[in-house]
Amino acid sequence: MTRMNPLLERNEQFARTYTPEALGPPVAQLVAVTCLDHRVDPAIVLGLRLGDAPVIRNAGGRVTQAVIDDIAYLGFLAEQLFGDQGAADTLFEVAIVHHTQCGTGLLADPGFRHRAAEATGLPEAVLEASAVADPHTTVKADVERLLTAPSLSPKVSVSGHVYDIATGRLTTTVDARYP
Ligand SMILES: [Zn+2]
Repeated sequence: MTRMNPLLERNEQFARTYTPEALGPPVAQLVAVTCLDHRVDPAIVLGLRLGDAPVIRNAGGRVTQAVIDDIAYLGFLAEQLFGDQGAADTLFEVAIVHHTQCGTGLLADPGFRHRAAEATGLPEAVLEASAVADPHTTVKADVERLLTAPSLSPKVSVSGHVYDIATGRLTTTVDARYP
């Protein structure tokens, strides 16, 4: 018995009409970085379809070193596999999406953060760095962090957006730019 059972049935439905696609560049020429929150599923709120865009998700949609490492590898992979296709001077845009009502916002409170650190063993500084209290502020900071990462390909642009849980609307806070 597993809670996956109803989802396995949905997968069975999906597989019935599925047609596999060859490995190619993401159709949207985009990599999305979003919170892992189940209310912010980019496939739903951005209408992403299979093959449109790789998605990297973590608590808050924060640009951590792990995210920077993944994007560096995706840049290398895109250059190796598809570098001769399309505009030679661009690979893809990284769209960083933070959102309102983020559960990580609770970590801005020192008492909550202290209890979270004790319960999880994570350093308080790490938890504080992951907090999204004001998504407009944190998304700007994370666009800067990624743009100044030494491993970011000069052919990768970065943009910042805020998703409003109350309205379902995404607004652009930082327009796409190159390092
Ligand atoms: Zn969140």
